[in-house]
Amino acid sequence: MSAPARPTNIIWDVTYACPLRCVHCYSESGRRPTRQLSHDEQLRIVDSIIELQPEMVALAGGEPLVVKGIFEVADRLSRAGIHVVCYTGGWPMKPDMVQELMRCCDTVTISLDGATAEVHDKIRGRAGSFERAMEALRMLDDAVSAGGRPGFEFGIDTVVVRSNFDSL
Ligand code: SF4
Repeated sequence: MSAPARPTNIIWDVTYACPLRCVHCYSESGRRPTRQLSHDEQLRIVDSIIELQPEMVALAGGEPLVVKGIFEVADRLSRAGIHVVCYTGGWPMKPDMVQELMRCCDTVTISLDGATAEVHDKIRGRAGSFERAMEALRMLDDAVSAGGRPGFEFGIDTVVVRSNFDSL
């Protein structure tokens, strides 16, 4: 009998809570009641994921950085040898979070939907979101430039819509 299929990559929307209101949000995060597992339930899900032995788990949402205990979740996955990715809009990013992210994630991706605040903030639905995303990138860049952790990387992702196409 062949072995059961297992997922290679898992994208886990850990919360529907989000400080942003993007026009393209497929999960309608921030617009509907926040649904989130308790921390203990999250850790049980982590253990179930580890049993599946995926290569990569992406923590997404919603905004994963507003989830209490998210670094313990990431750490447990990472210690099991899983490549951990965190997708964030950067809004809640604080300096102490950068160290935690570098410790327990392999990749951090900041969403950036425009080259200017005018374009980005309109798509992301909140004034100041461009500056917060850029500040998050600056903090990550500083941390990596200061030595970082071998193998850790960060970058941006962009949702292409009509209003930002010309600024790509
Ligand atoms: S940051 Fe992500 S989860 Fe939040 S509203 Fe935008 S697309 Fe949705």
